[in-house]
Amino acid sequence: MQEQIVYKGTDWERFLQQVLLETHCENPMLVCGKHVLKQQSMLDYISNSQYKFTVFTDFQPNPDYNSAFHAASIFVRQHCDFMLAIGGGSAIDIAKCARRFASMDLSKDCLVQVPKESNIKMLAIPTTAGSGSEATHFAVLYRNNQKYSVSDDDMLPGYVVLNPNFLEGMSIYQKDSCFLDALCQAVESWWSLKANEESIAYSKKAISLLLKNYKDYFSLCVNNNNIIIDKEIYANVLLGAHYAGKAINITTTTAAHAMSYGITKKFGLAHGHAVALCMVQVWQNLLESDNRNLDNVLKDISRTFNCITKDDALVKFKLILTDLKMSVPRLTANHDIQQLAETVNIQRLDNHPIPLNVNELRLMYENIFQSYEG
Ligand SMILES: [Zn+2]
Repeated sequence: MQEQIVYKGTDWERFLQQVLLETHCENPMLVCGKHVLKQQSMLDYISNSQYKFTVFTDFQPNPDYNSAFHAASIFVRQHCDFMLAIGGGSAIDIAKCARRFASMDLSKDCLVQVPKESNIKMLAIPTTAGSGSEATHFAVLYRNNQKYSVSDDDMLPGYVVLNPNFLEGMSIYQKDSCFLDALCQAVESWWSLKANEESIAYSKKAISLLLKNYKDYFSLCVNNNNIIIDKEIYANVLLGAHYAGKAINITTTTAAHAMSYGITKKFGLAHGHAVALCMVQVWQNLLESDNRNLDNVLKDISRTFNCITKDDALVKFKLILTDLKMSVPRLTANHDIQQLAETVNIQRLDNHPIPLNVNELRLMYENIFQSYEG
């Protein structure tokens, strides 16, 4: 897999300029969330730039295939030669897929075509500290309510900017949920059966950075109704989320993520919120399993959480959920737990440290709704 060039700092315009010059690109497409275009500095940049950006904002969270396909069609039609993504996980995923689809035959289904290596360069700038999508070679798309994981080594963005100023527009719920997503990704990656020395080093860095900056990151500093961000703290959390992305880029995620998609869909929770609720039960389930290797892994994770016993890290994780007031949605008669358990993609559990069957999944879902409801 190619190495990424990561620029950490605020002078992203100059970095982009340099990349465009080096790659001899002149016609960039910008895929970004609509909120990004509300920032005056961004509008100024686009209107004053020597480059004419083709801007694409026509997508939703949990993005669908049609949006990525639409972006790819425009990319080709406008003869774009560079992909710039500025946004959360959805924007970056759309851009990654559009870039890949743009090298395909657009008269056919892009999800079944064998991809050619794309020569389109891509720069990703996350505006949330969470998904780590800028650091992975895969993306999630939905079509007809069905989730697809699009994955290819070539999908890893070649360039990344980590600029804490871009985090300013996050809502509080987004900030909470993204933080939890990053933390869960780092932990899941660590216990994944695909974990290796490199991925574990990334998980460790991610967890340390996220936890070390946790208190300051969430202590709001408000002036005239504007949230003032501490650049250094935000930069550290952004870097922590990026390392968590690098970790799952090697290992992918495990059961907490696999279980979360049903909850996101049924209850409309943010991704990281749903993952965190599942994480508590998945972690508890692993702590109760009798597996020597796993035991050592759980102890290592706990040490990185600055805890003594292997159970304490989960206690700490639960305290964070309480701190952030992450609620549990109320079950109604229409919400079928058995159905949730049956729709978990068992294939996605391949790298989970212990085998899980539908019955165990159902029990974990039951515990999620029992333990928090109220
Ligand atoms: Zn995630």
